[in-house]
Amino acid sequence: FETVCNGIASHTRLTRQANHDALTNLPNRRRLTQRLATLYEGRLAAANLAALLIDLDDFKGINDTFGHAMGDAVLAEVARRLTGAVPERWMVSRLGGDEFAILGEMTGPDQWTLVAESVFIAFREPILTPDQSFSVRLSIGAALGADADSPATLLRNADTALYEAKRLGRGQVQAYTESMHARVARRYNVADALRTALDRDETTVVIQPVVRLSDGAIVGGEALSRWDSPELGRIGPDEFVAVAEQHGLSALLAARVIAKVVGALAAWPGSLSVSVNVSPGDLADARIVTALLDGARAIHPHILGVEVTERLLLSDPAILEVLQVLRDGGLQVYIDDFGTGYSSLAYLKDMPADYLKVPREFVREIAVGSRTLAVIDAIVAVGRALGLHVVAEGVETESQQRLLGRLGTAYAQGYLFSEPLSLERFRDFVTASQSERAA
Ligand code: C2E
Ligand code: CA
Ligand code: CA
Repeated sequence: FETVCNGIASHTRLTRQANHDALTNLPNRRRLTQRLATLYEGRLAAANLAALLIDLDDFKGINDTFGHAMGDAVLAEVARRLTGAVPERWMVSRLGGDEFAILGEMTGPDQWTLVAESVFIAFREPILTPDQSFSVRLSIGAALGADADSPATLLRNADTALYEAKRLGRGQVQAYTESMHARVARRYNVADALRTALDRDETTVVIQPVVRLSDGAIVGGEALSRWDSPELGRIGPDEFVAVAEQHGLSALLAARVIAKVVGALAAWPGSLSVSVNVSPGDLADARIVTALLDGARAIHPHILGVEVTERLLLSDPAILEVLQVLRDGGLQVYIDDFGTGYSSLAYLKDMPADYLKVPREFVREIAVGSRTLAVIDAIVAVGRALGLHVVAEGVETESQQRLLGRLGTAYAQGYLFSEPLSLERFRDFVTASQSERAA
């Protein structure tokens, strides 16, 4: 009798181990798949089903900074809160890492939105451990049984929606739509092709000249990436830079640009200031910082610049330190698209920076007596007060140039002077303009 009982107990335990996640005690992916199979069995569509995929934003940061034991404690608490946030009979499972799923049969048409809301509410308060407090943010992708004829499709749709939620800025919920699928598929294709292109070094760099308005001299330029994919055709930087950031390829892209600019400038005479664009995450990558510092030394007396957007980074003390290190190493820092992000004068005064760039959206609207004129006037005044030079971009007409000059903008770039040029053409352009000025 005892043997039989032990046998049953150990069988139950083994089943539990196979179907549950040891850390959180939640059902695991295998159990979720079984449950879905049962729910779909014998039905064409499980119309009232809702699946929510949940991913913690920046969980990796907790693990890296505080260690895995702390990471585990946070995950266990996340599991508790999720379980407490869902309706009875709904299932919370852990798919692995920091990914969770919620599955349930809705009793009303939009019940999933209420569930998502309760989940967000459950994470309003930070998670407290004896010596740390963690504000956990999460992204949610939702899919409905009504749009999915199989468990696999349901999960794939929820995954697509989750990807979109993360792209749109994290801390969000997105529901799957048909058109979303096409967009996400495109981004995966672009990411695959870009990975190959970067491996094979197929992206190129063009430089747009930057002009000093007081005397028209070319003082340098901005390096911009270009990419003609053999499979997908020409893809614009707005698209592939976003994909690179999302798929962890942006540091590789930055490394390619830096290498090309440094390689070109090191062989040229003179002293030009050429800036490269970096994505926020790139500056957290020691390899990129090293490449910038080494590059700046290699091209001296040319000057290397980095353009950073206000997006995200400027309030992060670690990034400010990196910018300071770069400046100490002889680089110049440009704040790109100033005034379109989350600029705050409070941090700007402590920013290790040299230039403010007026975005082309502002320059386009500049006109005598316009409010935009007043805004640019203010940017120039802020720059002057803080000892920063101002560069206007997207200058297309002489009247824009005149107005910018009158406001005291020191530098400008735009189609009026030149479009972005291949490295050889940029060099010719600089040489031609220098001999023209000498004549
Ligand atoms: P951005 O930094 O604001 O770059 C200036 C953009 O304005 C470039 O677009 C340039 O071609 C365009 N432009 C220049 N003059 C004019 C003009 O007179 N009129 C108009 N309408 N546009 C003008 P592009 O090359 O398409 O780059 C778009 C954005 O992609 C850039 O904006 C930059 O944020 C990003 N980007 C480009 N290359 C890289 C890169 O290598 N790394 C990173 N992280 N971002 C990059
Ligand atoms: Ca830029
Ligand atoms: Ca810009």
